[in-house]
Amino acid sequence: MSANQSVNTIIHARWVIPVVPKNCVLENHSVVISGQQIIEILPSDEVTAKYTAKEEYSLENHALLPGLINAHGHSAMTLFRGLADDLPLMEWLNDHIWPAEDKWVDEAFVADGTLLAIAEMIRSGTTCYSDMYFFPNISAKVAVDHKIRTQICFPVIDFPTAWANNAEEYIHKGLELFDQYKNCDYVSVAFGPHAPYTVSDEPLKQVAMLSEQLNAQVQIHLHETEFEVQESIDKFGVRPLQRLADLGLLSPALQCVHMTQINDQDLELLARNGVHVIHCPESNLKLASGFSPVDKMLKAGINVSLGTDGAASNNDLDMLGEIKTAALIAKAVSGNASAVNAHEAIEMATINGAKAMGLEEKIGSLEKGKWADIIAIDLGFLDCQPVYDAPSHIVYATNSHQVTHSWIGGSIHMKDRQLTMIDTLHLSERVHNWAEKIKASDSENKG
Ligand SMILES: [Zn+2]
Repeated sequence: MSANQSVNTIIHARWVIPVVPKNCVLENHSVVISGQQIIEILPSDEVTAKYTAKEEYSLENHALLPGLINAHGHSAMTLFRGLADDLPLMEWLNDHIWPAEDKWVDEAFVADGTLLAIAEMIRSGTTCYSDMYFFPNISAKVAVDHKIRTQICFPVIDFPTAWANNAEEYIHKGLELFDQYKNCDYVSVAFGPHAPYTVSDEPLKQVAMLSEQLNAQVQIHLHETEFEVQESIDKFGVRPLQRLADLGLLSPALQCVHMTQINDQDLELLARNGVHVIHCPESNLKLASGFSPVDKMLKAGINVSLGTDGAASNNDLDMLGEIKTAALIAKAVSGNASAVNAHEAIEMATINGAKAMGLEEKIGSLEKGKWADIIAIDLGFLDCQPVYDAPSHIVYATNSHQVTHSWIGGSIHMKDRQLTMIDTLHLSERVHNWAEKIKASDSENKG
C-alpha cells in the first residue's frame, strides 16, 4: 500500500481556469495546497490515490480562478462612497473630494475605510489590490493584520496634507515604509506620485532615481483627461508622458493609471519602455474622462491591467463588474466585437495585474509553486444556465455575489460568502458612525 502525501487543503471544482497557460479550461480538476502554495493541479479522480488533506472542498458547480488583482484604487475613500456624484474630474476633486479629505482624513479614517474596502474586495473576488492614499503606514498595517496582499503606493504630492508637508517629507516617510515591509509577503511598497499636475519636476526626478535604486514600482495617474494633456502642453511644451520620459521615469517599473488620451507617439513610448497601463473603465465613464484604447495597446504588446479606482468615483470595488465593463467598452471603442475576448478580460484582472506589480512569479495564475490565492465562483444559479463556456459566463453573465470562497496564501478568507477574518458587525458600526459625522458636517456646509 502506497503512503499518501498529507497536505493542508484540496479544492475539487467543476472548472479550473488557471489563466496560464492561455485560453485553458480544465474540467473536474482539483487544486492541491500545501503551506502557502499550490503544489499540483490534477484531475479530481486521481487525487485520492496521491493526497490526503486536512480540509477538503467539493465545489460541484463552481469555477476556480486566480484571485482577482485590483491594480488601482484609493481604499479608504470607501467612506466617501456616494458623497459627490455626477461631476467632472476637476470640479469633483477641487470642490468636493479634496475639502472632504482635508476635514476628515486621519489615521482612524484610513484604518476603518481601508478595512471596509478589504471586506468589499474579498466579497467580490479580489485577493490583491493596489492602494494609493494618505497614511499608507496605517493601510499597510490593516492589510497585514487581515492577511490580504496589497501594493501600497505611498503618496508624493507638492502640497501639504495630514500625512506630510512637502514632497521631501512624503518621500522620506515612504522610504521608511519601504524598509519596514521589504521582506513582507503581503505588502509591496511602491512610489505613488499622484499625477503630473500635482508633482513638480524635482520630486519626480527623485522618484525615478530612488525607484531604480530600490527596484520599486511607481504608480501615477496619467493622461486621465484631455484637459490634463493640454495643460501640460501649455505649461511644459510637451505631453505628460513625454515629460515623464524626459525626467527618466519610463521603465517596466512604471504603472500609468487611466491613459485615456493616446496618440501614436505615446503608444510607441509605452511599448518601447515596457511601461504598464492600468485601465479603470468605470471611473473613466463616471467622470466622463475619456475612453482608453485598450485593444490598440494590447495589440502593440503593452501590458494592460485593470483597476476600480476609488469608491468615490466608481462607486464600488467590484472587479467582476470592471471586467465586464472593460470587455464591453473595448468593443465599442475599437468598433470591433472581437476586441478583448473573455479570456483576455480575465487576464487583465489577474496575470496582467501581477506583471504590473512585478509579482508574476508569485500570483496572477493557478500554477504549481505559486501562492494559493484562489477564488471560487458559483455558476450553478439558474440565471447562469446553461454553461457552454465558463470564462464567457464569468465575464458576461455573473455578478460578484456568486463569488463564494476566497483563499489567500492557502488560508481561507471567505467560506460560503462568510468572511472569516473580519468582524463585519463591528465594521458596520464604525462605518455607520463615520457616515453620521460626515453627513452632519456636509449639511452644515450647505447651511
Ligand atoms: Zn485614482
